[in-house]
Amino acid sequence: MKNVLRQPVGDIKGIGEETSTLLGEMNIYTIGDLIEYLPYRYEDYQLRDLAEVKHEERVTVEGQIHTAPLLSYFGRKKSRLTFRVLIGRYLINAICFNQPYLKNKISLHETVTITGKWDQHRQTITVNELHVGPQIRQQSIEPVYSIKGDISVKGMRRFITIALNQYGDQICENLPLSLLQKYKLLSKQEALRIMHFPANHQELKQARRRFVYEEFLLFQLKMQALRKFERESSAGIEHRFDASKLQQFIDHLPFPLTKAQERVRDEIIQDLQSPYRMNRLLQGDVGSGKTVVAAIALYAAFLADSQGALMVPTEILAEQHAHSLKGLFSNTDVCVELLTSSVKGKKRKEILARLESGQVHILVGTHALIQDEVVFKKLGLVITDEQHRFGVAQRKVLREKGENPDVLFMTATPIPRTLAITVFGEMDVSIIDELPAGRKSIETYWAKHNMLDRIINFIEKELSKGRQAYVICPLIEESEKLDVQNAIDVHSMLSLHFQGKWNIGLMHGRLSSDEKESVMKSFSDNEVQLLVSTTVVEVGVNVPNATIMVIYDAERFGLSQLHQLRGRVGRGSEQSYCILLADPKSEVGKERMRIMTETNDGFVLSEKDLELRGPGDFFGRKQSGMPEFKVADMVHDYRALEVAREDASKLINSTVFWEHPEYGYLRSYINQSGIISGEKLD
Ligand code: ADP
Ligand code: MG
Repeated sequence: MKNVLRQPVGDIKGIGEETSTLLGEMNIYTIGDLIEYLPYRYEDYQLRDLAEVKHEERVTVEGQIHTAPLLSYFGRKKSRLTFRVLIGRYLINAICFNQPYLKNKISLHETVTITGKWDQHRQTITVNELHVGPQIRQQSIEPVYSIKGDISVKGMRRFITIALNQYGDQICENLPLSLLQKYKLLSKQEALRIMHFPANHQELKQARRRFVYEEFLLFQLKMQALRKFERESSAGIEHRFDASKLQQFIDHLPFPLTKAQERVRDEIIQDLQSPYRMNRLLQGDVGSGKTVVAAIALYAAFLADSQGALMVPTEILAEQHAHSLKGLFSNTDVCVELLTSSVKGKKRKEILARLESGQVHILVGTHALIQDEVVFKKLGLVITDEQHRFGVAQRKVLREKGENPDVLFMTATPIPRTLAITVFGEMDVSIIDELPAGRKSIETYWAKHNMLDRIINFIEKELSKGRQAYVICPLIEESEKLDVQNAIDVHSMLSLHFQGKWNIGLMHGRLSSDEKESVMKSFSDNEVQLLVSTTVVEVGVNVPNATIMVIYDAERFGLSQLHQLRGRVGRGSEQSYCILLADPKSEVGKERMRIMTETNDGFVLSEKDLELRGPGDFFGRKQSGMPEFKVADMVHDYRALEVAREDASKLINSTVFWEHPEYGYLRSYINQSGIISGEKLD
């Protein structure tokens, strides 16, 4: 039988050519498309108790006119009609703007139904809709569709009603019965009807729940299938080594590993030993001890006769990492070398030659590592730090320098679990969620801009003790030029203030990389005591003597970014401080400043950040690759996301999934996305 849902939408009575074209522009081509075109929100006309309505929420209430309506004019043609309404035991104010004719429609003691925005402080509703008499709507929750051109929301409702009545029984189930039963999910048919015409909130919630699960499951199936086929089609290196030798190395570290480090170490070692290629993301807050874990992995690779590479985004970081790795490997036969663009001439030639012959075991560097001249003898493990800073292409080039080396991406930007399992759904994720014992937490304060004098005194006090300070300048969105100007202004202000006492450095994005290096060097050598900077100091810089950071206009930054910045202090043994200068206007802005002062936990902050800003903003606009869901919301439905992920993983790895007819739709869904045929998934 031909599937009627695939017939063009023009087959529906009342939809002519013009409307068809408009619907086409909304990606609605078939009757099925129309039925699956879900409302993006609902207008709620259910009567509610004002005690439960939040400030600024939209509400519909029914009550009696308690005072005669008062009409006043202001401006040219503007008018305001005010009256009081008695709703149960509440007496509230109602205001109607620019609807003077309503005055004659209503009279004292009459019952009216009004819909509008509730101002809790003023006990006032700003009326959008007024209807004389009690609530009469049959459907008190009305769907609102996003629309185009001449199509109206009412029109959409009509088309969909016709489509559902005529063809609704043709809607096929796409989820297997076993899962529907397991989670007590509504059938697709029923859920679609409810999404378009909900009778009440409970029912709508159930329908939504079904689509949330469906969307997440389909998405996760795609990701997991990709992961499975990537793994199985790219044979990796089966690193074999003497586990007792690795244990010896770990035993000789200057400190015992934290529980989290041990867990992550095991996950990585297992990947190294497996015949599949490792593709793992290692997340850990600033100072959680990722470097040691990286060193253990590199040592395991070394024991298995493989070379390792550690790629970082800046020369300063490369130097720091090379230095710490040399320290950690000082009692072993491991040879670590540093390769950056500053390593030149004879020295460079010599390192490259020893790398090619296999005498250099671990190469640390910037993207200098991915140049053609860099040839490894046998590259088995690639680690990148702060992977956000490298493009996909750069990571790929590095990986191709060996034959399917294992790859570990390290990042100190704690990505909320919810996002990690969606955006990095095809990677394995390891998390170090524990700091080594005995860390001093950074004391964070929120101050208003008018307290700047006191803050400068505080900086002065710290500097007098021999400490150093960062001052992070106001951030002007989308204008690097203004950013720089701001930094220059703050720099000259502070230079003047501290004249003859301390040296003030200036760092911003317009400096050449040589200039940046030299500024950073003078700060880390304590030739400069106070560094004024734009956000370029964000990543990885380690100056343990710096104990104070002041951040201008802190409300403009995301919580995660503030946390990254704050991580530049608190790296030594002294108590460190972070001062957030901010005059946030909104409640959310104030809430964010409060959260910063209350927690030092990057994961808590990133979850909060996601909650307050939403997933789209989390990575900044430039970052694409965020999946779009019609109904589901990654933040609020994250439990469903985790459940769907587990289910998808079980299905993909079971035989019954690939054979049983019950899973036919899901299989064809995966096939359509081109994963199995080897095409890349975007
Ligand atoms: P990250 O790279 O995650 O920011 P690092 O690896 O640089 O953190 O570690 C920060 C500091 O903590 C280093 O000085 C390191 O030697 C130390 N460290 C790491 N692991 C431990 C541990 N288990 N116990 C005590 N100190 C540790
Ligand atoms: Mg680090």
